Amino acid sequence: MHIAPAFGAEDMEVGRANDLPLVMPVDTECRFTAEVVPYAGVFVKDADDQIMDDLEETGMLYSRLPYEHSYPFCWRCHTPLIYYAMSAWYIQTTARKDDLLRANEEVTWYPGHLKHGRFGKWLENNIDWSLSRERYWGTPLPVWRCAQGHDHCISSREELSKLTGTDLSDLELHRPFVDEIKFACPECGSEAQRVSEVIDAWFDSGSMPFAQWHYPFENQDVWRQRFPADFICEAIDQTRGWFYSLLAISALMTDGHTCYKNVVCLGHILDGEGRKMSKHIGNVVDPWSVLNTQGADALRWYLFTVSSPWFARRFSQDHIDEVIRKFLLTLWNTYAFYTLYANIDGFEPREHHIPVEERSLMDRWILSELNLLVKSVTDGLEQYDAFGTGRQIADFVDELSNWYVRRSRRRFWKSEEDSDKVAAYLTLHECLLTVAKLLAPFTPFVAEEIYRNLAGERYADAPESVHLCDWPQIAEALIDPDLSFRMGAALKVVNMGRAARMVAQLKVRQPLDVVVVAVDVERQAALSSLADVVLDELNVKRLDFADSAADLVTYSVKPNYRTLGPRFGKNMPDLAKAVEQLDTTIVLKRLEADLPVKVAVQGVTHELDKDDLIVEAAQRTGFAVEKDGDVVVGLSTTLTPELAREGLARELVHHVQNTRKAAGFQIEDRIDIWVAGPEAVAEMLSQFEEYVRHETLGVGLSWGTEVEPAEGSYREELKINGLPVVVAVKKTDRL
Ligand SMILES: [Zn+2]
Ligand SMILES: [Zn+2]
Repeated sequence: MHIAPAFGAEDMEVGRANDLPLVMPVDTECRFTAEVVPYAGVFVKDADDQIMDDLEETGMLYSRLPYEHSYPFCWRCHTPLIYYAMSAWYIQTTARKDDLLRANEEVTWYPGHLKHGRFGKWLENNIDWSLSRERYWGTPLPVWRCAQGHDHCISSREELSKLTGTDLSDLELHRPFVDEIKFACPECGSEAQRVSEVIDAWFDSGSMPFAQWHYPFENQDVWRQRFPADFICEAIDQTRGWFYSLLAISALMTDGHTCYKNVVCLGHILDGEGRKMSKHIGNVVDPWSVLNTQGADALRWYLFTVSSPWFARRFSQDHIDEVIRKFLLTLWNTYAFYTLYANIDGFEPREHHIPVEERSLMDRWILSELNLLVKSVTDGLEQYDAFGTGRQIADFVDELSNWYVRRSRRRFWKSEEDSDKVAAYLTLHECLLTVAKLLAPFTPFVAEEIYRNLAGERYADAPESVHLCDWPQIAEALIDPDLSFRMGAALKVVNMGRAARMVAQLKVRQPLDVVVVAVDVERQAALSSLADVVLDELNVKRLDFADSAADLVTYSVKPNYRTLGPRFGKNMPDLAKAVEQLDTTIVLKRLEADLPVKVAVQGVTHELDKDDLIVEAAQRTGFAVEKDGDVVVGLSTTLTPELAREGLARELVHHVQNTRKAAGFQIEDRIDIWVAGPEAVAEMLSQFEEYVRHETLGVGLSWGTEVEPAEGSYREELKINGLPVVVAVKKTDRL
C-alpha cells in the first residue's frame, strides 16, 4: 500500500492517525525539490518516464503498462493537477454549526425538500471554511505577522493607522499597496508584514448583506430595516456556493439568523434532448439568438410556465414558438381587437361609467373570473409560485379571447354606441389593463406596451409605467361563484360539443338539430340557465338532457382471445360467459383506474387487466358523442333540408365576408352583393336574404343562375358546400 500524506486528504488523515512523517519533495511550482537529486527542478509529470526508466535499470520495476484512471484537471485550462498539502487559513464554522442550522430554520425553501435535504445535510456535515487563497487578485487577508510569528488581525483602517502611526484612511486596500504597510509588532517590536494570502471570493459575495451598507461601521439603521432580504433566486449549484456563503456569514454575524427569508432554487436548462448544455457537445443555445428573434418575453413566459422552476427544463426554440402562438399572440390579438374598435369609435373609457351590476351576463362573468384571477395570482405569487400563476393567467387570457371576446364581438361591431356597447368596451378595457399589471413581473415588455397605450400615455394622473403601478386590488364584490360555476359548465359542454363536431367532420357553420347532455342535476340547471349561450356556440337548435349516459353511448366488454386463449384453454367458453355477465359500468371504472377485474370460472377467481378485455363503445345512432369523466355530450348529425339551407346561408355569409376582405374594403363599408349559383342557392336566398345582407353590411342583394354585377365590382368564383357560386361585391353610399 502506497501512502503519500502530502498529496491527498485521505492519505494525510491516515498519515496523521499513524504518525507517519509528512514528506514534501515538491515545491509550489510543482517541481521536484533539491533533495530528489536525479529529478530536482523537473516538473513532476515530466519526470514520469525518467522515473520508470531508472526503476527498470536498477531492476526494481515489476511491470510497465498504460493504466486508465480518473485524474484531476484544471476545469478551465485542463492542465493536470496534483493534490498538495499546504497551510491555509480557515474559519472554524464547525464551532458554530448550531447557528448555521438555526439560521436555516428561518428560511422557506422552494422546493421545500432542499431545506432539510440537500442544503440541510450540507450544513449538518459542515466542514471548516477554507478561507485563504494563494492568488494575487482578491481581498487581502488582513493578517500581519512578525518574525516571531505573532499574528495581528486588523479590523479597520483606523486600527492600521494607529499601529503604523500614519493616517491610512485613504489607503487602497488591495495588493500591492496594502502589502507595503508594515508596523512594529505590539508584542515583540519586530517588524510585522501582511501574510501573502487573499480571501476566497465566496467570502466577498457572502458578505453582501453587510458590506453593501458598510455595516457595522455605518448605516446600522438602514441595515436593520433591510435585513433579512425577502427573496433570493439562484440555481441548484449554489447550495454550496452563494446560498451557503450568505447564510454562513449572516449566521456568524447575527448569532444564528438568516439574511434571506425565501429561496427559489432553479433547475438547470437542458437541451431539447434533455442533455446538459455544454460547449464541448456544441448544444449550447445562444441566448441572443432567442432574444433577437423570439424576444425576452417569449423566453421568460416559456421558462415560467413550462414546469416548476426547480425542475431541469428541456429547451428548444420550437417550444418558444409554441408559447408565442398559444399565449402571446392570443393576448396580443385580444388587445389589438380592443384598440382597433376603440379607435374606430373614438371610445374613451373615462367618459363612461356603467355599474357592473347593470352590465350583461358575459361582462359580469368575465369580471368575476378576472377578480378570481387577481386573487389566485396574488396568493400564488406570495408563495413564489410563478408556474401555477402563469398558467392561470394563460387560462384567463384564453377564456377572454376565445369566449368573452368571441361571444361579444357583435357588441363592438354594431354601429350605434348604446350602453351595451359601452359596457363591452369598459369590461374588455378593465380586463386588459388588469392582465397587463398581473403580467408585469412575467412579461415586462408586452405588459408595458399594453399598459402604456391603454393608460400610461393616455392619462396624466396614471403612473407612467406598468412597473410603477400598484398591484391590482381584488374586487370581492365582483366575484360571483354561482355565475362562474354555471359558465364553467357551459364552457365544458361547448368544448366537448365542438370536439364531437370535429370527429363527425361537420363545419361549425352548419346548424344542427339538438345537443343532448348527460350530466348531474346541478349542472343541468346551470346549463339550462345558459341554454342560449350553449345553443349559439354549438350552433344547434335545442338543448336536451339524457336520463343517463347510456342514452348516448353504451359500452360492451368482450374477452380478448389473443391474451386469454392460451391462459384458459378449454375453459375459454366458460370465461366468455363469465365476462358477459360482468357489470359493464363497474368494469369500465376499474379499468380506467388501472385496477384488475375479477371473474370466477368454475369456482376459481381470476384477475383480468386492460389487455385481457376489449371495450367497445356504441354511440346513439345519428349522434356524435364525446365523453369526459361524468359528462357525456351528444350532437345530432342528421341534416334536414331546412338545416342544410341554413348551413348554406352561413357559408355564403362567410364567403361574402372573405370577398369583402379580398376586395380591400374597410369593415364599416356598406356594399351591394351579386350571387350567381345553382337553384339550391337561389332557394336558400329567397329565405335568408335579409340575414345575409344584415351579416355582411349588404344594402342590395341580387341573385339568380346568372347575374349582371355593376361595373367596377369585385368578383370571385367559389365553391360553397360543393356548389359553384360567383360572388361579386361593390361599395355603396346608400344606407
Ligand atoms: Zn488552469
Ligand atoms: Zn511579534
